[in-house]
Parts: sequence; C-alpha cells; structure tokens
Amino acid sequence: MQTITRKAYAKINLALDVVRRLDNGYHEVRMIMQTVGLYDELTFQKTDGGIVLTVDMTSSSRDAARTREGARLPLQTDSPNGAVPADQSNLIYKAAKLLLDSSGVTDGVSIHLRKNIPVAAGMAGGSTDAAATLLGLNALFGLHYTKEELRALGVKIGADVPYCIQGGTALAEGIGEILSPLPAPPAAHLVIAKPDIDVSTAFVYRNLHLETVMLHPDIDGMIAALDRQDLKGIADRLGNVLETVTVPAYPVIAQIKEKMVSHGAQGALMSGSGPTVFGIFEHSEEAQSAAEDIRTQGLAGQVFVTGFEP
Ligand code: ATP
Repeated sequence: MQTITRKAYAKINLALDVVRRLDNGYHEVRMIMQTVGLYDELTFQKTDGGIVLTVDMTSSSRDAARTREGARLPLQTDSPNGAVPADQSNLIYKAAKLLLDSSGVTDGVSIHLRKNIPVAAGMAGGSTDAAATLLGLNALFGLHYTKEELRALGVKIGADVPYCIQGGTALAEGIGEILSPLPAPPAAHLVIAKPDIDVSTAFVYRNLHLETVMLHPDIDGMIAALDRQDLKGIADRLGNVLETVTVPAYPVIAQIKEKMVSHGAQGALMSGSGPTVFGIFEHSEEAQSAAEDIRTQGLAGQVFVTGFEP
C-alpha cells in the first residue's frame, strides 16, 4: 500500500467551561466535544525520504475576499488571515515528523491537504489534520501503534489532538486530553456559520476573567440529557464561558445566534474560542432557511448545513 486518503473531521463544543488558569499558561477545562460532518481530506503517499506538504484551500475554507480562489499556497513562513501554512509550522508536518522520528521509519511521505474546515474558527481544524496524519501514517507504514499510544503522541502537538484521534462525543477534561466517551446525541440538523472576522485564541483566553463569570454551563446536566437522548435537554444546556469575551467584542456572533433561533433552532452557541457559531435544528427546512438568511444578510461568509458525526 503506497497511498492512503483520510477524512479529518471538525468538532464543535456543545459545552465549554474553564475551571482555572494553570501556572504553565494552559487552562484546566471541562468540555463536551462533538464531531460534525465537515471535514478536510488528506492524502498520504510514500516517498524515498523527507516530508513534503501541499495545501489546497477550497473556496469555502477561507474568506474569498482575502485569498485567491483555488490558489495553491506557496511555501510560506507566516500565515495570512484565513490561510494555512504549507511549511514546518503546519500541524500536519509536526505530526508526520513526530511519528516518523519516534518509529525510526526512514522512508519519506508526501502529504496533500484539501482544506474545507474554516481556519482559526474554533473547530480544531489544525488538530484534526494532525490526528488524521498520525492515524494515516500509522496505517501507511504499518506501525501498529495503538490509539492510546497515538493519543500520547498527539498531546505533544496540541491539547485537542487526542480527542480528534478518538472523535465522536466525549467529555474532555484536564487541558482537554483526559477523555471519557459519551453517547452520541440524537440526529439533528446543524448550521455552522463562520463570520468573516479573525479571533485569536490567545486574545480570548487573555481576556477571560473567570472571577466575573457568573454562568457556567451545566455539563453534568448535559451528560444526563445525552444519556436519555433528549435533544431539547441538550440544546437547553448549550454553554461556552468564552462567549463572555467574544460576544461583547464581536456583536456579529450574537446576531448569528439570534438569526438561528429566529429560524427555529433549538439552541445556538459559539464553538471553542470562536468565532464560528452553530445552531441545532430538528427540521431540515428550518436549517436550510437559517443558512440562506445568514448568507444573504452577509452575517457569515462560510455557512454549512451538516449533522453530528458519530
Ligand atoms: P481550535 O479549535 O483547536 O482552537 P481553530 O479551529 O481555532 O483551532 P485552526 O484552524 O486549527 O484553529 O488554526 C489555527 C492556526 O493554526 C491557523 O491560523 C494556522 O496558521 C495554523 N495551522 C497550522 N496547521 C494548520 C492546519 N493543518 N490547518 C489549519 N490551520 C493550521
């Protein structure tokens, strides 16, 4: 087997709570993670040596106004808004290097990324690509690492990588790497909308004042709702403490949430550190009309209708 293709799925946070700031700069979190049906595609091909990465941005994966449609990105060391670096700073490159170095494989690999997931959006786009790389190269080179071993490697790249290796529905604790699987929510229609603003994760955590956060998401209540397969109970408990930073700073986030609810969403929330917003709908027509309205009103440049992915 010389070539392998893998899908790298995005995630949303049904709930995100920050417990405390740690001395090492990380934050202790409690999050309910959920894979969604939006994915990047990665192709891995064996070569004689070295790691070569090429990136294609689909028009949906970045702000069309900022980068040329269909452009193949040149090698670059910094990352302009909405673009993905095709150099050693890419998490795919880091994951490939880590796996090849730790296993002693001397062959090389050529990796092609087709990027569909919005970038710097709170959907773990980079982490899921890193996870797909660990899984893909494990298979391509017949390394037989267990998922647990891959998760231990993955956390060296990023706190969300272990979850992305596992996927599905999970409670993530610690810095996000302590995972407990949960039952998948009942099927629903999701609208995912990324407004054309750039929100840095560092900015959000720097401006999070935990002592003033009065409302923390009811994570245990959501776990109970997942257990009883109660979509309304899940939607009623959507919560993300990082909205206390982003919603006042970027009013478009609240506008998109309101638009989703006005079209019948059972609930709507910002994912991760944003700015992407998702809405949960029981009926497909409502989801489609919400997406259409968000697009035509220019509230978000990247809008998807999808569902939960087990
Ligand atoms: P998270 O939800 O984990 O905070 P995110 O969705 O907010 O992640 P990413 O899409 O992972 O953010 O991108 C954050 C930055 O990481 C980008 O601006 C980009 O420069 C860099 N990056 C490195 N590798 C990748 C990759 N494979 N895909 C996307 N971004 C990458």
